[in-house]
Amino acid sequence: MKAILVHQCGGPDQLKLEDVPVPVPGPGQALVKIDTSGVNFIDIYFRIGLYKADLPLIPGMEAAGVVESVGAGVDAVAPGDRVAYAMSRGSYAEYAVVPAATLVPVPASVSLADAAAVMLQGMTAHYLSHSTFPLSKGHTALIHAAAGGTGALLVQMARMRGATVIATAGSPEKAARARSVGADEVVLYNTHDFEAETRRLTCGKGVDVVYDSVGAATFAKSLASLKPRGMMVTFGNASGPVPSVEPLVLSQKGSLFLTRPTLGNYVATREELLWRAGDVLRWVSDGTLQLHIHKTYPLDQASLAQTDLAGRNTLGKLLVKP
Ligand code: NDP
Repeated sequence: MKAILVHQCGGPDQLKLEDVPVPVPGPGQALVKIDTSGVNFIDIYFRIGLYKADLPLIPGMEAAGVVESVGAGVDAVAPGDRVAYAMSRGSYAEYAVVPAATLVPVPASVSLADAAAVMLQGMTAHYLSHSTFPLSKGHTALIHAAAGGTGALLVQMARMRGATVIATAGSPEKAARARSVGADEVVLYNTHDFEAETRRLTCGKGVDVVYDSVGAATFAKSLASLKPRGMMVTFGNASGPVPSVEPLVLSQKGSLFLTRPTLGNYVATREELLWRAGDVLRWVSDGTLQLHIHKTYPLDQASLAQTDLAGRNTLGKLLVKP
């Protein structure tokens, strides 16, 4: 089969298209013929070595496709089933072996491309808005990179839960996208001080929660945008990882809460996975959740997809089709 391999950590040129054997599912695993693979920032972290993995690796943490065969002891899925998954690495390929327990059924009303587009980022937006800081009416959230794949879904879920959203975006086009998915206010944070704007927009009070996927570049001002006892959710490193923090800072800024969550811990049981994926796929099916596909790349252009994502010029979701 064709697959993208990384033999050495580094730039996008380390993503090589190669021929490798089709993997064989072991006990508890399924072989999925991949229809569409999602591109995520985490793929870049593995490529550059910020997140560690044994080499060579096949990047890609989410996909949708059709079960080709199953290993011993698998009865939750069968050959021919339309399925989707996230957080199992190796989806930049024609086939992937995946733990069967991570596969969720894709309803007939949802295309495999849309399912691949929404699994990782959709379930992330779900756990952030429903579990890490369960939003409700009366809350105000600050959401960074709101026109991105994860950001635009998080804005929509925050609004579904009744919260007021102050969004940030890197360009006027991105600001328009953030507004179109429901942001109440948008700050162009490359040219405007988002901390000052957040204070102004909240009449000096600050926000209940900041969802910060940008990391190093925004962390300090995000903390300073919170109201006393607010929650800082730092969940990504798009601009680089956040440096060490003195706990005393949380006290000085108003007894703040700080968390650094990751999706794996929020789909820790099959029940939780089916809850989040079920909600997300149903909302795609009934139009509650708007998806925006930035571009679908052929497998041999996976390096271009990652270059575009890191280059800060994309709106919504990037996909790779083997
Ligand atoms: P996005 O589609 O959001 O793309 C990243 C966006 O981040 C850019 O478009 C850009 O938007 C913004 N950004 C700000 N600074 C930089 C920079 N220096 N370089 C590149 N981009 C920058 O990507 P994803 O939705 O795939 O991921 C968003 C973030 O969410 C990532 O940090 C990722 O790791 C994190 N994440 C975390 C998960 C978790 O469970 N912890 C799960 C899923 C995603 P703008 O121009 O508007 O600033």
